[in-house]
Amino acid sequence: MTNIDQVNFSGKRVIVRVDFNVPLDDNFNITDDTRMRAAMPTLQKVLKDNGMLIIMSHLGRPKKNPDPKYSVKPLVKHLEELIGKKVIFVDDCMKAAEAIKNMKAGEVMLLENLRFYAEEEGKPRGVEKGEPGYDEAKKEVKAAQKEFTKTLASYADYYINDAFGTAHRAHASTALIADYFDADHKMYGYLMGKEVAAVDKVMNDIKHPFTAIMGGSKVSTKIEIIENLLTKVDNLILCGGMTYTFKKALGGKIGNSICEDDKLDLALDILAKAKEKGVNLVLAIDCVCGDKFANDANTQIVDPMNIPEGWEGMDIGPKTRELFANVIKGSKTILWNGPCGVFEFDTFAEGSKAIAMAIAEATKTGAFSLIGGGDSVACINKFNLADQVSYVSTGGGALLEAIEGKELPGIAAIKK
Ligand code: AMP
Repeated sequence: MTNIDQVNFSGKRVIVRVDFNVPLDDNFNITDDTRMRAAMPTLQKVLKDNGMLIIMSHLGRPKKNPDPKYSVKPLVKHLEELIGKKVIFVDDCMKAAEAIKNMKAGEVMLLENLRFYAEEEGKPRGVEKGEPGYDEAKKEVKAAQKEFTKTLASYADYYINDAFGTAHRAHASTALIADYFDADHKMYGYLMGKEVAAVDKVMNDIKHPFTAIMGGSKVSTKIEIIENLLTKVDNLILCGGMTYTFKKALGGKIGNSICEDDKLDLALDILAKAKEKGVNLVLAIDCVCGDKFANDANTQIVDPMNIPEGWEGMDIGPKTRELFANVIKGSKTILWNGPCGVFEFDTFAEGSKAIAMAIAEATKTGAFSLIGGGDSVACINKFNLADQVSYVSTGGGALLEAIEGKELPGIAAIKK
């Protein structure tokens, strides 16, 4: 596999798939540019070499072409500021050949939203799965996808994938395009490389003891991850709303706590599997419950197996904070996905904060820590501890699928 640092892009056309799917307000102002900044090292590398930089991305979920609400044009000005160069904007990603032919070394181009074309995702529009005509429409879009991919590939000498956030999608620009480049002409960008290396450390290159902390609201969305982790970890801390399903399955009284009643057997099955595999599965021994789902709820600390009627478990209690922190501090590899309480309310954020602090402390003494997946990033940012852990992943769904043990199409396509 080619490493981006081995290549000098001087005078070459380089197409880079980035994840510029940034949030915009009603006036098309970028409200969080983290994803754009994350791609800068790769984009700067191409420009430093004096290459011709062609940037492509998706933004949101447009349903037609064009769909002005989802245009990437509003990103141009900020991109110019970040990159320190003028950006040529092409308002149709399939009609860029002429403009690319005229590009000079060191110039930058941004293509309009790839998802204006159904071919990018290869999913038919206007007809849902199961509806009449879906199969034919799918066949049609798949056939057209080949041309679409070929056109994108024809724009450049090199293909770089730096969009980890969409690496779990086998889309034209994230995976299929790689087939048009040989191994010397396709590679990960720096962000993608860092993400892949971080995942590798918790999936393959594990230093024991390995502790995974899985939180969040629902066990049903985390089941495949938990099952995969049971084959790898020494300690599995389960926390957050999902654990009340476990407590109920074990015969506990959980009051108004959230619970998936159809997953009680599944919870027991996970407990049995952990035992069978010799995994130390750790559950809360006390919890902070509230009399309503609000920051100003009245609170009390109770046994999570015995929550009073009318109250709901919303955070771990002080004894559990200590229990979890001790397990975490004794670990050499740590993976955290999902808060252990309703951290959005300060009243119920102490548990998640204690976990974040214990991870930061373990990291200081040499552990490798990976935080990621949806709310976990917001959570670590809330406590200003993101720079005190080894790696905070930018990929929500992509990271979760990687932890499930699945090979991500965007990664596999570069490795081929
Ligand atoms: P998930 O998307 O499954 O990772 O869940 C994240 C969400 O779980 C966050 O918004 C938390 O507020 C929520 N959460 C964590 N613990 C609880 C709890 N005990 N009760 C209700 N929601 C919770």
